[in-house]
This record gives sequence, structure tokens and C-alpha cells, in this order.
Amino acid sequence: MALDNLLARNRAWSARVSEQDPHFFDRLAKIQTPAYYWIGCSDSRVPSNQILDLAPGEVFTHRNVANLLPPGDLNSLSTLQFAVDVLGVRHVMIVGHYGCSGIRASLEGARLGLVDTWLGHVQDVQVRHHKLLSELPHPARVDRLCELNVAEQFMNVCRTHIVNDAWKSGKQLAVHGLIYALEDGLLREMGLSAGNAGEAEQSYQEFIERAAGCQDRASSSSHEAHVSCSHASCSAGLPV
Ligand SMILES: [Zn+2]
Repeated sequence: MALDNLLARNRAWSARVSEQDPHFFDRLAKIQTPAYYWIGCSDSRVPSNQILDLAPGEVFTHRNVANLLPPGDLNSLSTLQFAVDVLGVRHVMIVGHYGCSGIRASLEGARLGLVDTWLGHVQDVQVRHHKLLSELPHPARVDRLCELNVAEQFMNVCRTHIVNDAWKSGKQLAVHGLIYALEDGLLREMGLSAGNAGEAEQSYQEFIERAAGCQDRASSSSHEAHVSCSHASCSAGLPV
């Protein structure tokens, strides 16, 4: 699609929104007060606002390849700090997705260029959970690493001074780990949810135990079956 076409689509969208709500852009230009901060993958098929069906102004978003928030990354940490301290979001969502190309590339040891360095953070997750991954067939292994990566990024967020200081000061702030399936457009809870440091550690440990517990089911499943055998399903009945 040529740039002219994109600009024409933009004008039509602006006119449509203004027609439905004449003060929408005036109101939005003055202040943003989103309740949600989304850390997701840059994948073009996983856009935060559309998936959550939220309007501009309702979700603060940071996206990078493979939805990472490594401890030393100033970019993602700065957006987290801005979201929590300045915007006062109430929910931080780490959102992975099944079939992530970045996760697959890391698992296969693909050489893609500069991005390989970034994906070294995924390889750290892979090494840490080698035992959980090693006996799975390839498609299931990719999806399991997508899940484990969310769990690790969830803990990276929960262990930051930013989030811990917010919790210690009594702020209402919840951190969640979620995973999205391209196949059905649905977000799945993973049992990773915390409003304080103790809950974070507990939900992470329980998630890892569930991951170990459903190895057999995952190892005999096709890709499609594994998606329905995500921890959201395996953890049915457990608190989330
Ligand atoms: Zn991805």
C-alpha cells in the first residue's frame, strides 16, 4: 500500500472518530491516564489496543522482539518507570505469543544479524529451563519457551526497584503474565499474577511446577493441541 493510501486511511479514521465523539482528540491531547501498561512483542499480528479492544489513551505500550524486559535494558526499564511513577498505571501486562519468530530463532540458533544479540536474553531462559524443554518435540518446544519467557520476564518486572518501591509505598499495582494465540485471537492467563513480591515468587514457582507436570501431555501433542494444552488450560482450577 502506497503512503498516499495510508494517509487517506488516517484521514478517514480521524473523521470517523470525531464524528462518533467530537471531543475525543481534544480530550486526549490534554492528558493520558492509561490504567494498563503492555509489554509485548513487536510482531505485527499482536497489537495491544486492538487485541484488548481499547481506544487510544487507554493502554501504554512497549514492544520489542520477543517481549523482553532484561534487567540492564534502559529502554524498557525507562518505559516501565514512566508507566508506574508518572502515569500511575494499575496493571503491568507482560504478553507473549505462541509461534513467536524471535523465540523460534533463538531456539534454532538462527543467525539473523544484530538481533541475535538481543535474543541472547531468550537463550538465557532456554538454558535455565533446558530440562523442561529438552524432551519436547520441536513445535511444542517453541511454544513452551514462549511461555517460559513470559514467566521470566514477569519475574524481571517484579524484581525491579521500580515495581518493588511501588509495592512498598502501598501503590495498587498488579503485574500479570499472559500469552496470546494467533490462531484464535485470545489472550490466555498463565497463573502469573502478583500484587506484591511474595505473590510474584509464589505464582512463578507454581507456574514452573505446572510446566513440569504437563510435560507428558505436551510432548505427545501437535502444535495445535499444545496451544490448547497451554498452562492456562493445565492450570484450570488453580488461582490466577
Ligand atoms: Zn514474537
